[in-house]
Amino acid sequence: MDMSRALFEKLSRHWHGLEEGVYRPGFSPEESEAIQIIVDEAKSMGMNAYEDLAGNTFLIYEGANRNLPVFMSGSHLDAVPNGGRYDGPAGVVAALAAVRAIHDAGQTPDRDMVVAIWRNEESPWFGQFAVGSKLACGDLSAEFLQAAQKNDGRTLKSHMTDIGLNTDALAAALEHGETLLPMDRIAAFVELHIEQGSQLEKAEKPLGIVTGIRGNLRFPKRIQFEGAAGHSGAVPQDERLDAVLAGAHFLQVFKGFCQELQDKGHDLVWSCPIATTGESASPTTIPAHFEIQPEIRSLSDAILGLGNVTLRMLAIETFWDTGVKVHIDPKDIVMGRAVSIDENLRKLLSAKAAATNIDAMEIPSGAGHDAAILAQHGVTSGMIFLRHGNEGVSHRPDEIMTLNANDDPFDLQGDFAKAVQVLKDTALNYKDVQEVKPSNGDFAYHLQLRGARPL
Ligand SMILES: [Zn+2]
Repeated sequence: MDMSRALFEKLSRHWHGLEEGVYRPGFSPEESEAIQIIVDEAKSMGMNAYEDLAGNTFLIYEGANRNLPVFMSGSHLDAVPNGGRYDGPAGVVAALAAVRAIHDAGQTPDRDMVVAIWRNEESPWFGQFAVGSKLACGDLSAEFLQAAQKNDGRTLKSHMTDIGLNTDALAAALEHGETLLPMDRIAAFVELHIEQGSQLEKAEKPLGIVTGIRGNLRFPKRIQFEGAAGHSGAVPQDERLDAVLAGAHFLQVFKGFCQELQDKGHDLVWSCPIATTGESASPTTIPAHFEIQPEIRSLSDAILGLGNVTLRMLAIETFWDTGVKVHIDPKDIVMGRAVSIDENLRKLLSAKAAATNIDAMEIPSGAGHDAAILAQHGVTSGMIFLRHGNEGVSHRPDEIMTLNANDDPFDLQGDFAKAVQVLKDTALNYKDVQEVKPSNGDFAYHLQLRGARPL
């Protein structure tokens, strides 16, 4: 825990107090500086460091059989604007702390243990989340490097060039459809992350073992209600085509549908973050126009699909009931698939927690993380959530990593230490989950074949 404390102290050079929070954008010199802090510490334990063409860093602690697929853990170091200190770094530092514990105990893991630092996980910088891990998995195109812009008007490519990345080589790899990450050489990836919610706090559990990552259903062009304007005093009630009242009816019926699924035990959460009459509204006119942008999340793609169909049927039903036309353009519906977490790995994580009397509970993840990107590419992936108080706020300077703001995050009996323990025990015993074929060449070799360079 002393190492973790010292690393967070060093990382605090980007901390500007409770007003401004952390300043560490994706693909910035600050992010590179933070990575260097972790790299220096890793090298002091004899770990080798590699950087892939997208700037992701991999720190390798050698295991007994170097040709076995590796056990990988890690997260990201960038923060949202005015962000907190722990969303991301907690997972990177925990991974290194697990290696430190193995190193200090003089143990040798069966397989190489890799600490991954993914570049730019937060979406505000270049309009996409998990840019680093998506690039490593070949999810983004070479065009994206030119098209994505930060709010300073400069492209991702130029920010990457500024921090010394070889964008031509990266673009060439992306154009040829090559992945930067040798995914078949990864036995498992486990990401520790603060919960970003307060379910664990309410349940009085220090850790959560993630069961899946919720997918989402979104309507970026919004659902449009088209009624007719009229004087709000003169038109008889039954002749009105009030777009807002039709929208309220629509949402009310959808709420009942969701409630029914929730009551049956299905995983489903939803909200309607945007609802507006737009510019044309006036206080004494029957609203002719109303638009809403609901957002539905579930661990099940089937439930998301059902939500999609139901909303479109409701559009027709609302027109029959109210006379107000409801437009949902099928082309504008965006569905982000749910990610399932490997069940064997999940059970192993739970078992390792139980073995040392750590009280963990199963919990779904509402947000996407780097682990979700790897899981989508078939890498056996899991997540450990860490309880944090202050109502589980994240992406804010008052984000904390303990139950109370004054608790020591690096207490030997604390939640963070417990998470490191589970991570370490899982890494050391990974062979319990599945046997994988050794290959020619270790992980570092395969990484370098894909353009990574030693640091
Ligand atoms: Zn994060």
